[in-house]
Amino acid sequence: MTRIYNFAPGPAALPREVLMQAAAEMLDWRGSGLSVMEMSHRGKEFMSILQEAQRDLRELLSIPDNYKVLFMQGGAIAENAIVPLNLVGSKPQPATVDFINTGSWSTKSIAEARKYCTVNVAASSEESKFTSIPARDAWRLTPDAAYVHVCTNETIGGVEYHFVPDVGAVPLVADMSSHILSRVIDVSKYAVIYGGAQKNIGPAGLTMVIVREDLLGHALSVCPSAFDWTVVAKNDSMYNTPPTYAIYIAGLVFQWLKRQGGVAAIEQRNIAKAALLYDYLDATDFYGNPIAKDCRSRMNVPFFLHDKSLNDAFLAGAKEHGLLQLKGHKSVGGMRASIYNAMPIEGVHALVEYLKEFEKNNG
Ligand SMILES: *Cc1c(COP(=O)(O)O)cnc(C)c1O
Repeated sequence: MTRIYNFAPGPAALPREVLMQAAAEMLDWRGSGLSVMEMSHRGKEFMSILQEAQRDLRELLSIPDNYKVLFMQGGAIAENAIVPLNLVGSKPQPATVDFINTGSWSTKSIAEARKYCTVNVAASSEESKFTSIPARDAWRLTPDAAYVHVCTNETIGGVEYHFVPDVGAVPLVADMSSHILSRVIDVSKYAVIYGGAQKNIGPAGLTMVIVREDLLGHALSVCPSAFDWTVVAKNDSMYNTPPTYAIYIAGLVFQWLKRQGGVAAIEQRNIAKAALLYDYLDATDFYGNPIAKDCRSRMNVPFFLHDKSLNDAFLAGAKEHGLLQLKGHKSVGGMRASIYNAMPIEGVHALVEYLKEFEKNNG
């Protein structure tokens, strides 16, 4: 049988080793007699799973001691409300928040934040159909904004920040859902980093928030307690029942990542994987990628066939070759290959071989 490679944008491929370990531990986690799904979240077994996952995440991202790591629920979409609910209270109301609009996900964040604050879209790449990131010197920032929000990897459009924007003393908030742990980041440059787990970390249901401690304590009074970062932090992410199984799997992924050599090592592999695919797309006239070269995502590679009438045949052939979930998002069309940490370079080689073969037979 052909080996399957899953290019889904999220929920996405998990490392095979992690799935095998989870299968082996499914009925009896390390002699406890219980599945992780059946454990009390306050029992010592699950507490050890949670603490180890938090420790490993801190180690992998070198998270400074003055940041809290919160495991929440609701996904990045819920955080689009939770972030303003927790941060705008640091300013007189109504507070202003600056947004950089680089695509579908930042557009969603903007729409949600409008419920809680005055939104200033300080820069947007909408005119270029979100194929670029507005140059930093063109951002029209508000001096006393409560924070500046960016989406550092636009999963749908395939646009990634390869720089950390300097926004002075204003807190920088980043939705990193689809590239967290794919590259080395300097956490200290950000005030808040958040993301859903189902792209590059683990199963859906777990949301990660990394927040600088001095930003806690300003939640609006209407903020639900379960979404108040201060409450969540005080209760070690146990104010409400956390998504226990998703945390367990994320913990296994963190251990897997450490065995790969950590984030710096996986980043080198991600660079090589992305180069392999983009180099081929650039070398042919049969396929194309519309994104400006300085902000192409290493994780999500949208591409299109110049002859759209071949799309269905392309996807059917890809499936026959064991290359799954390559259809692009409906808002962009065409194809998209998501090549997160768990995608081995062999999968990208297999995709490029198929791209060549399809071109030869149809070009
Ligand atoms: C997937 C994604 C989201 C939405 O995540 P949910 O878990 O569905 O809330 C938000 N932002 C980015 C960048 C994403 O990739």
